[in-house]
Amino acid sequence: MFVSYVVMENTAKEINKKDLKALTKSGLSEFLASLGLKSYRSDQIFQWLYQKGAASFDEMTNLPKQLRSDMENLAVIKKAAEYSRQESKDGTIKFLFKLDGPDDYKVEAVLIPDFYDDGVAKRITVCVSSQVGCMFGCSFCATGKMGYFRSLTHGEIVDQVQAINRLSEEKFGKKITNIVYMGMGEPLHNYKAVMESVRIISDPLGPDIAQRRITISTVGLSKQIKQMAEENLGVNLAISLHAADDEKRNKIMPINESLNLEKLEEAVRYYYYKTDRHLTYEYLLFDEFNDTEQDARNLVKIARWVPSKINIIMYNDVAGVTLKRVREDRLNRFMRTLVRQNVTATVRRSRGDDIDAGCGQLAIREGTERGKSII
Ligand code: SF4
Repeated sequence: MFVSYVVMENTAKEINKKDLKALTKSGLSEFLASLGLKSYRSDQIFQWLYQKGAASFDEMTNLPKQLRSDMENLAVIKKAAEYSRQESKDGTIKFLFKLDGPDDYKVEAVLIPDFYDDGVAKRITVCVSSQVGCMFGCSFCATGKMGYFRSLTHGEIVDQVQAINRLSEEKFGKKITNIVYMGMGEPLHNYKAVMESVRIISDPLGPDIAQRRITISTVGLSKQIKQMAEENLGVNLAISLHAADDEKRNKIMPINESLNLEKLEEAVRYYYYKTDRHLTYEYLLFDEFNDTEQDARNLVKIARWVPSKINIIMYNDVAGVTLKRVREDRLNRFMRTLVRQNVTATVRRSRGDDIDAGCGQLAIREGTERGKSII
């Protein structure tokens, strides 16, 4: 019978409780099997954690009462919970999630809806955070200015998706359609947790969002790009490029000094030949910095490394950053050069300007201590 897993003589205090959401899916199954539970119970608990967003065993109503109470003594469920939200005029919503733990860290996630003319939601994109702060220090990025504090667990990443997915269903009558790992942190610097979060997000017993609708963005960590090529995942890879020659890239992205464009090219080619997947380059266009004809021509060369497309992103100015959003005439000239060279390029207008939800703007502004919010 199922109670056989309980080590009866142990008191709750003596048992080192297992953090269930720190376990991978297979780790969770192994742990529950070691307690004598059948695999269907593992599926039920997984579904409660990652699809229904349960914060306690009490909520798991299809588990026997005794099992729920035993689990309470054996394990804990940590949950990144919504702390606050701000809604923009254009429908973009920025969330602050409080992580479970003594450190009181908070991270941001953003919901970006696109609507048909009749107001029905067409595409609902969620931008998630993977770290508290970031160690890569890109000069245009508010998160980079915070410094690095810690990486999120896969559970904390999935919690953002799961909570926003529920809101999306309530508010727009449909699930979120796309996920981008472009919030706070460098996803490939938190490699294992990010990969596990992708597996859970796309699991039919989790949020069940197709991998082809998930995009992971990186500043160009070449070792991890190659590693990702071996993962057999159907996700999209985006490279945060932002400058098309080493000299300029060094100025705004310190990582380029050790991992330059030559190393990036090698990793990107490896990734493409292993996966046959097209890439996206993200290029924030800054006024009179990376927006000249020569920059566009350099970008064309990069776009030809492997089949790819380019997202030109309009920067939302960040306080204390001298780089500014490109002017329209310079943007148009830059785009003309790309288009004439048959490069696939689109311009992404910024969203959520009034709530600082744009690319490069995510950071906990309310805190006085680095990385901590005191709101
Ligand atoms: S742009 Fe990305 S990698 Fe660079 S500092 Fe910001 S969060 Fe980190």
